[in-house]
Amino acid sequence: MKDTSLSAPSWITSLAKYKASKPIEEVAAELGFKPEEIVMLGVNENPLGMSEKVRDKIAKAALSLNRYPDADACYLQKALATKYKVPQDWVVVTSGSSELLGLAAQSMLSEGKNAIFPQYSFSLYPMVTQLCGATAKEVPATEDFNADLDAMLDAIDENTRLIFLTNPNNPTGTFLSEKQIVDFLEKVPPEVMVLFDEAYAEFLEDDLRPDTVEIVKRFPNVLTARTFSKAYGLAGCRVGYGISRPEVLDIINRVRHPFNLNDLSQLAAMTALEDQEFLQKTLDNNQKQRSLLAERFSQWGLPYMGLHANFVTVKVGDGKDVAERLKKKGIMVRDLNSYSLPDWIRVTVGTEEQNKKFLSELKNILEERGALN
Ligand SMILES: *Cc1c(COP(=O)(O)O)cnc(C)c1O
Repeated sequence: MKDTSLSAPSWITSLAKYKASKPIEEVAAELGFKPEEIVMLGVNENPLGMSEKVRDKIAKAALSLNRYPDADACYLQKALATKYKVPQDWVVVTSGSSELLGLAAQSMLSEGKNAIFPQYSFSLYPMVTQLCGATAKEVPATEDFNADLDAMLDAIDENTRLIFLTNPNNPTGTFLSEKQIVDFLEKVPPEVMVLFDEAYAEFLEDDLRPDTVEIVKRFPNVLTARTFSKAYGLAGCRVGYGISRPEVLDIINRVRHPFNLNDLSQLAAMTALEDQEFLQKTLDNNQKQRSLLAERFSQWGLPYMGLHANFVTVKVGDGKDVAERLKKKGIMVRDLNSYSLPDWIRVTVGTEEQNKKFLSELKNILEERGALN
């Protein structure tokens, strides 16, 4: 904390700022590359870019931004309600799903209360919890890096108000089946909200993907969160959404700022929903390239974790060193030191060309380190 006479609450002053990666232009300048030469596999963005239909639509709309946007994004809300076959008031649209995680915390938590989440989960969960003055309770994962649902049930106490559960999980790529989820929810007390973070749900095979809309219908304490940042390629637009019962969203909507989504983002997301062709291309590329990465890792004897999202988490030895060396070659991946997985890196599944470049540099680096024979 810098010195100041202002007196913020202790739970704010003890909080560390979220560490995001630098803009790609900045990274490129530092390394002596052009921005387009950087192979960006660090933050799980869409390697195919964005839908051209979205680009055309928002380019036109950018010419008139003098009016306030629709405060509730009701056209997008309606489009999502139609997609998921729920009434419109079962949907809330937010500025990325990150905003929704924060809104859930603000709605449910205060000093003395706590939120529970598994080890190896998204760094925003403890952050939004602590922001409310509440306690973040991390529950150790299973040996295979998945959420330990029994241990999470055991961790619930009379002050627990919120549980975060990610499926498939970032950064491990592990996955929970519909049966595991339902069995868990049956045992969670009804006054505890379960926030289901499904940022990567689109990447699951259709027959593996839990029917979370059915789950929301059945369990009135569940809020499921999704995003346009990953499969839809709109991370820069900041659009996420939640599906839950109107009683739950009534609480969320009291906390949400009106006008939380600008005009261009609303339009981009609506157009992206209509462009199923781009989505399919994204999913096809992901599935094919993800298998190829895994195949190569197997050949090299490198352990990797669950192949259920748009990234692969692979054990390379010293993750920080390997990520640093890749960065010098213009390839950005995520080391997982902050998740206490120092031997691993997380690499976003890229295009064929990007992955080839990544694999070839990784091979050199591992050979230099004497980690490949
Ligand atoms: C990327 C990600 C999100 C979504 O972030 P947005 O705010 O929608 O861009 C949410 N949860 C997890 C676990 C993620 O990895």
